[in-house]
Amino acid sequence: MDHVKSLKCLICGAEYRPDEIEYVCPKHGDDGIVDVQYDYDLIGQRISPASLAQDRNNTIWRYKPLLPVEPDSPVPPLTVGWTPLYRADRLAAGLGLKHVWVKDEGREPSASFKDRASVVAVVKAQERGAEVITTSSTGNAGAALSAMCASVAQPNVIFLPESAPPAKVAQLLVYGSTVIMVRGTYDDAFELCAEAAKEFGWYNRNTGYNPYMTEGKKTASLEICEQLGWDAPDRIFVSVGDGCVIGGVHKGLKDLMALGWIKKMPKIMGVQAAGSAALYDAWRTGISAMEMKPIDAHTIADSISAGLPADRIKGLAAVRETHGAYIKVTDDEILAAIPVLARGSGVFAEPAGAAAYAGLVRAVADGLVTADERIVVLSTGNGLKDIASARKSVGNPLLVDKSLKDVKRALGK
Ligand SMILES: *Cc1c(COP(=O)(O)O)cnc(C)c1O
Ligand SMILES: [Zn+2]
Repeated sequence: MDHVKSLKCLICGAEYRPDEIEYVCPKHGDDGIVDVQYDYDLIGQRISPASLAQDRNNTIWRYKPLLPVEPDSPVPPLTVGWTPLYRADRLAAGLGLKHVWVKDEGREPSASFKDRASVVAVVKAQERGAEVITTSSTGNAGAALSAMCASVAQPNVIFLPESAPPAKVAQLLVYGSTVIMVRGTYDDAFELCAEAAKEFGWYNRNTGYNPYMTEGKKTASLEICEQLGWDAPDRIFVSVGDGCVIGGVHKGLKDLMALGWIKKMPKIMGVQAAGSAALYDAWRTGISAMEMKPIDAHTIADSISAGLPADRIKGLAAVRETHGAYIKVTDDEILAAIPVLARGSGVFAEPAGAAAYAGLVRAVADGLVTADERIVVLSTGNGLKDIASARKSVGNPLLVDKSLKDVKRALGK
C-alpha cells in the first residue's frame, strides 16, 4: 500500500502508518475516527480517465489504485458497484428542473449501497488473516457483509436491533451468518458488537469506527463523475443516518479534485428523517460533531435511524465543506416519495432510499435548488427490502371474481 500515506485523526490531527493502528486514534477512546491519506501523485501515475475508459472491469475494483488495499489482494467475486445512473426527465419536469439523475444502488448484490463498504471490509480482514468479521447494523450493512462473506466462505457475526425489517433478517440467515438480535436499539447493537469484537479478537467493520468503510463508499462518487463524463454534477442528494455514506460521497469527490479529474466540488445535500435528525440539528445550530448528544431516534426509514450518528465528524464536514445543506423530511414525505420515484424513474427504493428523493422535493419547495442545476439522487436501497412500508405508500389491487364481467366492473367500464 505505498499509495496510502497515513491514517489521520479527525480530532487531533495525529497521523499513523496503516500498520500502526487498526481502527481509531487511540487518544480518544472509540471516537477517534481517522481518514485515509493518499499519495495522489503516485495514484495519478497508475490510473487516469484515459486508462479507465479502456477498463472493462465494471465493478468498484476498476478504482483499485484509489482504494486502501494491497494491489494483489484477492477480492470477493460478487459484482459490487458500477450501478446504473438513470436520467430521470419526467421526475425533473415534475419538479421544474432540467437535469436529474437517479443512481440505483438497489442493484447491488445484497440490494443496498452497503455492499461498497462491506466488500472492502472483507478484503481488509483477509489481508489481516482475521478468522471472524463482525458488524452491527440496522440491517443493510449486515446483509452486505453477510453476502460478501458468503461469497468467500468467511465466518461472520452480525448484531442487529430487534426492530430490523424481516427481509433483512432473512438475508442474514440465508447467507449463513451468525445472527445476534439485540433487545435494544441500533446504538445498543453497535456498542455490544464493539465489545464482542475486542473480547474475541474479531475484525470490526462497524461504521464510524473502521476507517476503510468510507473508502468503499466513496466509489459511488467516482462512478457518478465517470458516468457523467467527468463533468461533476452541481448537487448530490443522499440520505443520512450514521453519516458514513455521505462522508464517503465527500471523500470520493475530494479524491477526484486532488487528482484534477473534476473541476468543481458538487454541493452535498444530506437528507435526514425528521425523527432521526441529529446531524440536521447540529448543522443548523452550528455545533461541532464532538458537541452532539444522543437523541431518541424513530423513523420508518430504519436504515437512517441513528441516535448518535457514528460517523458524525465526516457527516457534518461533507455538508459544511461543500456548502451544501442538511434537509429533514417527515416519514409521510418519505412514504409518499416511494411511488413517485418508482413511477417517475422505474426505481423502487426502500424508505431510506426514497428519503433522498423526498429531500430533493423539499429542497425545491424551499427554493434551495435552481432549475438548471445538474442533480444526482442516490437511491441507496431496494424497495423489496421493506415491503410493509412500501404497501403503506400505495393503494390495494383490484380484486375480481373469475369473470371478464367482473374485470369490467372493477375497471369501471
Ligand atoms: C446505511 C444506509 C443509509 C445511510 O448511511 P449512513 O452511513 O448510516 O448515513 C441510507 N440508505 C440506506 C438504504 C442504507 O442502508
Ligand atoms: Zn487523535
